[in-house]
Amino acid sequence: MAAMELQTQCVHAGGYRDEKTRGVISPIFPATAYEYLDSDARPYPRYFNTPNQQVLVQKLCALERGEDGVVFSSGMAAISTTFLALLQAGDHAVIQDDIYGGTRSFVTGRFPGLGIQYTLVGRDPAAIEAAIRPETRLLYVESPTNPTLQIVDLRRVATLAKSRGIPSLIDNTFASPVNQNPLALGIDVSLHSGTKYLGGHGDLSSGAVITSRELAGRIRAAAAGLGGNLNAQSCYLLERSLKTLGLRVERQTGNAGRIAAFLESQPRVKRVHYPGLRSHPGHEIAKGQMAGFGAMLSFEVDPRALSADAFMRALRLIRPAMSLGGVESTICDPARTSHREVPVEDRERLGISAGLLRLSVGVEHVEDLIADLRQALAGH
Ligand SMILES: *Cc1c(COP(=O)(O)O)cnc(C)c1O
Repeated sequence: MAAMELQTQCVHAGGYRDEKTRGVISPIFPATAYEYLDSDARPYPRYFNTPNQQVLVQKLCALERGEDGVVFSSGMAAISTTFLALLQAGDHAVIQDDIYGGTRSFVTGRFPGLGIQYTLVGRDPAAIEAAIRPETRLLYVESPTNPTLQIVDLRRVATLAKSRGIPSLIDNTFASPVNQNPLALGIDVSLHSGTKYLGGHGDLSSGAVITSRELAGRIRAAAAGLGGNLNAQSCYLLERSLKTLGLRVERQTGNAGRIAAFLESQPRVKRVHYPGLRSHPGHEIAKGQMAGFGAMLSFEVDPRALSADAFMRALRLIRPAMSLGGVESTICDPARTSHREVPVEDRERLGISAGLLRLSVGVEHVEDLIADLRQALAGH
């Protein structure tokens, strides 16, 4: 199915054909025990090779243009397992500074005890290059970033990593495979929190890694010892969700573009961060590496006019909630939620003021979303 468009792949790639009933959707195989006489297959959930896990991997590989992958019970299971598969004591890793908080905590909290060295760097490829040492074994980036949607030049990171023979990894959660295919840009490993866009309905925890056959084999081997496998029912739910991934994310991205333009025109909004805006410093790079600019944006309400808290309480449709990527629009203030553990001076350096709001745009009609934002900005 390699030649087909993403929308078609979402629906059709990797389906399991049940010859007995000839139903058009994959059956759920809940078995943890499989007969083994006369068969070389050894399915077992923690070996990540059951039928429902394999079907999902095939669909995700089609969407991310990878050779092989592993699906997990959470994004952090995918990320931590991948680190532990690719790094050991004595190794060094170059890690982007402003990555997802849980990933950053895993690096800073766990790497020292494991004897793994790391350097946290900015988004500039020159800074990344300067941090590479002879014992560096991976480069890890995120783009667009959370919560200010900054853009990393992925082709330059990929070229740099290849020239040094080091695998490059990206957390592709924010863009989703609909808006960004890092493997096609030369990045080696694409990671996802499936809890966000892939699941997309706020009711499923999962994670995934898509990469080459060789690296997926190493990650799967580590995963067999660490666990973190996704059960059959959740695999099915994720497969079902992925069928509408293209539809959902296209609509969400279109909505986000309209909302970003609306917010930028509002006198009570100080700043809007969205890679699709010409005012965004990463706009040109984003244009060259993303199919769409994504459905996440952030903005600052002028504190002299309205506090972030008062603004969120005035919203009627958009719900103040953590997490992101669901069909319903949600909003949060990172200073009080995702980044509350980050020291204030670091927060300021990262552009996370008390008035910064992060909006995850859903699939609602965009005029209803804009009307809600408009009335909340008016303060009544
Ligand atoms: C949520 C998230 C994660 C972690 O995923 P979980 O499914 O919560 O474990 C990792 N990276 C990014 C960018 C996220 O938004």
